Amino acid sequence: MRLTADLLDVPVLITGSAVAARRTVRRYRAAGAQVRTIDCPAHFVTGTLDEVRVVVAVDDGDPGWAPLAAACRLHNVLLVREQAALPGRNVTLVGGGPGPADLMTSRALAALAEADVVFYDRLGPAAELDLLAPGAELVDVGKTPGHHRVPQEEIERLMVASAHRGHRVVRLKGGDPFVFGRGGEEVAACVAAGIPVTVVPGISSAISVPAAAGIPVTHRNVSHSFTVVSGHAPLSTAEHTSLAGLAAAGGTIVVLMGIGTLPHLVAGLLRSGLAATTPAAVIERGYSRDQRTTNTELGNMVTATATCSNPAVLVIGAVAALGANSATTAEMNRLAAAMLHP
Ligand code: SAH
Repeated sequence: MRLTADLLDVPVLITGSAVAARRTVRRYRAAGAQVRTIDCPAHFVTGTLDEVRVVVAVDDGDPGWAPLAAACRLHNVLLVREQAALPGRNVTLVGGGPGPADLMTSRALAALAEADVVFYDRLGPAAELDLLAPGAELVDVGKTPGHHRVPQEEIERLMVASAHRGHRVVRLKGGDPFVFGRGGEEVAACVAAGIPVTVVPGISSAISVPAAAGIPVTHRNVSHSFTVVSGHAPLSTAEHTSLAGLAAAGGTIVVLMGIGTLPHLVAGLLRSGLAATTPAAVIERGYSRDQRTTNTELGNMVTATATCSNPAVLVIGAVAALGANSATTAEMNRLAAAMLHP
């Protein structure tokens, strides 16, 4: 049974040790309740329940709380029981998926529900965090327009310091933590500081955002491989060979963070021999209400996508023609047949 209660200005007494009750206290405060706490049964005296409408008993294992239930019944006070917050001092890197909360894993949701602190940025399900992590302090470390983002080293320092204080720390990242998310660096920082760290994978935008536009990154007989590249760290030193390799591989090319460097990439791919008629698509703001797909061809891609902005996923390759507008089975089969019997 799941109930939603209006707790604004309701006098609530939370019992249980400070460590066990920490998340409960934050949750009830966030809901606007007038929270009082007592952290050991010896502090429970006559009069404690005067003016109280709800008692939240956090089970900290102390048998001294046993008379509380009877006292609540006597005073006609609602008694709610809760589990103690699990011990902290750890970090969980959580993949937030491409945006909607229901595209996160159950394990990701459980980690958020148990979190004391959540460090998040703008991608992933940031808007719903107060519901998903009601007991947590929410810290925005992301880039917001016009503001500088918190530098990576500072994020790592904050995470480690918070875990050292005994908190369960969640670092929420868009998509999957290990796909262009600097997740590896954050794991390394925790390991170096002796903080236990785990990673909960997420649905990467590299696969899911094309899917939101009806584009399969592989399709039998059309494309049997896909390569995910970042436009942010353009293929530089060995660039020419890398681009030639990408072009020669013949699979789907998926580009994240690619809007800014798109002209550069397109020119390079054309130079490397990819046909100007190669289908291409740009999917902006996948899974949001203003998701938009632009279908084009490599040769026209720069002009056709002039108004596109980040966040966007770029798809270059035959599968890009299989978008939502044309993604009928017949179309896919026609394309597959054309590849098989040119
Ligand atoms: N770790 C993330 C990627 C981080 S890089 C993942 O696995 O998805 C950030 C880039 O991801 C954005 O610039 C954009 O290219 C892409 N991206 C993430 N979410 C997106 C969304 N909902 N719609 C479009 N692009 C998205």
